[in-house]
Parts: sequence; C-alpha cells; structure tokens
Amino acid sequence: MIKVLIWNEFAHEKTDDKVKVIYPDGIHKAIADFLGCDDISVKTATLDDENCGITKEILDDTDVLLWWGHMRHRDVPDEIAMMVRDAVLEGMGMIFLHSAHHSKPFKFLMGTSCNLSWREDGDMERVWVTKPSHPIVQGIGRYFELEHEETYAEPFDIPEPDQTILMGWYEGGEVFRSGCVYIRGNGKIFYFQPGHESFPTYYNKDVQTVIKNAVYWAKPNYRAPLECPNIKKIGTE
Ligand code: ZN
Repeated sequence: MIKVLIWNEFAHEKTDDKVKVIYPDGIHKAIADFLGCDDISVKTATLDDENCGITKEILDDTDVLLWWGHMRHRDVPDEIAMMVRDAVLEGMGMIFLHSAHHSKPFKFLMGTSCNLSWREDGDMERVWVTKPSHPIVQGIGRYFELEHEETYAEPFDIPEPDQTILMGWYEGGEVFRSGCVYIRGNGKIFYFQPGHESFPTYYNKDVQTVIKNAVYWAKPNYRAPLECPNIKKIGTE
C-alpha cells in the first residue's frame, strides 16, 4: 500500500466563485477522488490545518507527498518547508503541481528562483510526451490536449532536469518543460505543470493518468535518516 498525502493551500477555492464551482471541496479532494484505489491510500492536508498539516511524524508516515499552492506560499513557515525538503532527501517521493513551482519546498530543493513567464488567456495547451519510455507517461499517447490552461512559458529557471518527459505547447506558440523529473538525495521528484485553479484540469483523464503513474514512480524504495557520521578505520572499531 502506497501512503499518499495531498497538500493543498486551499485558498482560491474558498474565495473565488469560479474556482469554487470547479472544485467545491478543494483541489485536494478532486485529486484524492481519482488517486485512491486498492494499493494507494490517500490523506489530505491544507495550509489552515494545525502546523499546516505537516509534522515530522506525518512525513515519516508518507510515501509520496503532492503539493499544490499559489497565493499563500509565504504563509508556509521555512521550518516546515525544510522538513519537507529533508523528507525528500531521506527518500520520500514528491510531486509538485502547477504553481507549486514557487512553493518553498520546491525552491529549497531546486536552489534556483524557479521563475517562469506566464499569461492567463485560457489558451489550448498541447502536452507532448518527450520521453515515451518513462513510467510516468505510460498510457498517454504522443500528446494530450487541455482545452484551456494558464500559459507557462520558458525560460523556466530550474536546474537542468534529470529528464524532461513532457513538453507543453500553447496556442500562442510558447513552449514549457511541463514534466520534469529529478533525484535529490534518496528522493524522487516530479514537477507537473498543468493544474491552473480556474480550469477543470484535474478532471482530465490524461492528467489523472500522469499523476497516478507519478505516485507509483516516486514511491520510495530506500529511505534513511540524513546523517554525516564520523567513521572509524576498518579494523579499529
Ligand atoms: Zn495558475
């Protein structure tokens, strides 16, 4: 059983009527609804929960953490973001969704500004598979289309990904590295661009397939506490 925690800032859904209609119970609930199955157990946490819904014990009991945030990134205390970063380095899997490119845990793990160019015109996005052999894109054709998405455009200030498995193209001609994978420490990280709050992206079957595949891919096969031990020469212990 893979233990998944979906973390959502859960702010737009409370304050923006358009978003409320699409995700009445929050983006986290919409994701939980398609992820939960016989071998994936799902819990959710939100920013307004006690301690932002994140403790060391909770992270220790999480195999894969999903993160959605946008307008309240700064309200996540640095200590909590660093706790998340350390859990990834120990081996927890991590999936950053859409505007989580500016979340503190993502920036701590990447070490760059994670800035990008953006515009909100509701363009059609065509998401191309650039690494068809990767486990995360199994079940996806050569591409899939989203009728409307927020345009995210290069340059995207991230370290060169270990692999770029999806590339987004928009009606306006912009392109964006929409699916990027990294290994950091023992942990596997996936950044996935689709998921603007005012479009029903998380109900799209291909988006759901990618996220579910990513959970299976990111689950830890090795996890160990971070340490930097002073060792003895062999034979002198
Ligand atoms: Zn957005």
